[in-house]
Amino acid sequence: MKTTFLALILVAALAAPANAQGFSADIKEIRQVSATIPGAHALRINVVKFAESRRTKNFSIKGAPMEPSIQARTAFQVVYPDGTVMIDSGMDLQVHKFFGRGVEEPYFQDDESAVEAALKKAKLIVMTHEHGDHVAGVVRGPLADELAPKSVLTRTQIQTLLTNPQMPEIKLTPDMAKRYIVVDYEKYMPLAPGLTLIKSPGHTPGSQMIYVALQSGKEYLFAGDVAWHMDGVRQIRGKDAPWITEDEPAMTAELTWLNSLTKSEPNLTIVVSHDEELRLQYIRAGLLGGRFE
Ligand SMILES: [Zn+2]
Repeated sequence: MKTTFLALILVAALAAPANAQGFSADIKEIRQVSATIPGAHALRINVVKFAESRRTKNFSIKGAPMEPSIQARTAFQVVYPDGTVMIDSGMDLQVHKFFGRGVEEPYFQDDESAVEAALKKAKLIVMTHEHGDHVAGVVRGPLADELAPKSVLTRTQIQTLLTNPQMPEIKLTPDMAKRYIVVDYEKYMPLAPGLTLIKSPGHTPGSQMIYVALQSGKEYLFAGDVAWHMDGVRQIRGKDAPWITEDEPAMTAELTWLNSLTKSEPNLTIVVSHDEELRLQYIRAGLLGGRFE
């Protein structure tokens, strides 16, 4: 009797969904999911940097030298023939100041205004995760009411913003939370032609990566803040920032997967949100446009 009971527990554990035991993802499955929504794929993707943090590199990559490193704060515009989808939503000056912790850091008001114009124009807005530099544009300020009904937040992102927001400025009330398109999914979710959400908790509970396949066949993976610098992916090394708490095993699994993709998928461009060197390199290479349209 006892043995049968133990066996049942074992079977139940084995049958648990893969992502209940940590992160896993498969690029072939993601491509299949991305092909499920009919319609023309996107033509190109643009990036805008609206602020910077000046932190030494050792915070972004454990063991890296304490040399100066610019962290770009960015948002992305996916351009379809008949409209745009925004990835992340910028932030106002007050939220920017939270990140500086008393140190004045560069904030580019003209570029933030370009982000706001692009958000107003977008058909859909989706977030890599629920931190202030990614969601503030759709949760606070004069535009939030207008943008919320076309903004997709996951159930987990909403939950964090209700109960444990990164800063008081982005805390949602239950009434505010009702304004968004709230989604929940197991592992992947197709959101637009060629565009798929990939559940990736770790940096935050509501973190997700976003895969985009263009008409040209070029592929992109927006990894959000899984790494703050691409060296984190290249070296499979996490951050060393005492002010954040991450799920370490999940982070290692995500970095390991991204690293394997850099070797096996030469056609796939991995974009980490805050790597300024990578942003400039991708613009120079024509992989990302440097302004919104
Ligand atoms: Zn961030």
